[in-house]
Amino acid sequence: MTYQRPGETKGALRLHLNENTAGCSPAVIEALRTIERDLIALYPDYGPAIEACERWLGVEPGWVQLVNGLDEGLHASAQAARNREPPHPRPEAVIVEPAFEMYVPCAEAAGLTVVRISPQPGFAFPLAPLLRAISPATRLIYLTDPNNPTGLAIPPGAIERVADAAPDAIVLVDEAYADFSGRTQIGSPLDRRRNLVVGRTFAKAHGLAGLRAGAVVGHPDALAGIRRVLPPFSINVCAAVALDAALRDRAYLDWYVAESVESRRLIYDCCSRLGLPYWKSEANFVLVRVGPDAAALVRDVSGRDVLIRDRSTQPGCDGCIRMTAGVVEHTRAALTALEAALASRHR
Ligand SMILES: *Cc1c(COP(=O)(O)O)cnc(C)c1O
Repeated sequence: MTYQRPGETKGALRLHLNENTAGCSPAVIEALRTIERDLIALYPDYGPAIEACERWLGVEPGWVQLVNGLDEGLHASAQAARNREPPHPRPEAVIVEPAFEMYVPCAEAAGLTVVRISPQPGFAFPLAPLLRAISPATRLIYLTDPNNPTGLAIPPGAIERVADAAPDAIVLVDEAYADFSGRTQIGSPLDRRRNLVVGRTFAKAHGLAGLRAGAVVGHPDALAGIRRVLPPFSINVCAAVALDAALRDRAYLDWYVAESVESRRLIYDCCSRLGLPYWKSEANFVLVRVGPDAAALVRDVSGRDVLIRDRSTQPGCDGCIRMTAGVVEHTRAALTALEAALASRHR
């Protein structure tokens, strides 16, 4: 399976990829302007960016591995999982549906057979089926907290149960949206569970998607297999400089997260008014059930220069769209377009 890259678009309001709709912190641009010719000519020194990241996440030295966007971390985790001892003739990756679309291509590229856990009613976390699916063949489990595309949290204690049940696997907890949820596995359970690795990205809340910057975080023993399969210089110098600057500007992050929270509330209000079911999200997007013609509605809204994502073909998501909750002003414009599109369909 190949990741389906959404089409290029010019000038439209992009609410389909959960990007930061405000752009990165101005401090990032200032830092990039300080880059001189010699710095571009050298292989990057990651020291300052790694230290900034360790400080920001509150972990010991050695617990952060920078990656060229979390997507690279997902790939590397799958490769490392494939290499885990003891070898198995038909190693498996377990994925909880609906899931981020990169998981299947990453697992398959590493030669893992994908085992999918079907959605439960209301997208309740499928702990029992997941535990039943774990076998001696399990080498990788991708979990997402909060989930993309539902925005829902994994209930307390579930991740630990899964990690304890799968000692031969890497349990990759994808926390791409942790800046919005305020919840993370980084802290207590990680130092005891050497098979647990947390994935973070600076693409979403920090607005560095175009530079590609992410991290995998865990005990150095847990990261060793991942480090073995990563290129030594996979993060470019601009991303490293930008990350250091972005992590120093806490005020900008706080402002953006507050905008996103308010935008979620506006989306909920709009859905309630229109009678559209939605799921309360802990991330910077909301999944909304718009009905059987979700794809046509997405096209109609894009004709109004607002891009939202058709998620209706994802497991459990029939009739659903996902829209980013970014800057409040953008959300207001998007909801106006969505309401107009819905009204024109019902005529
Ligand atoms: C966006 C996203 C990523 C990828 O992040 P990059 O750093 O841009 O590669 C990973 N996981 C989830 C769940 C995401 O939504």
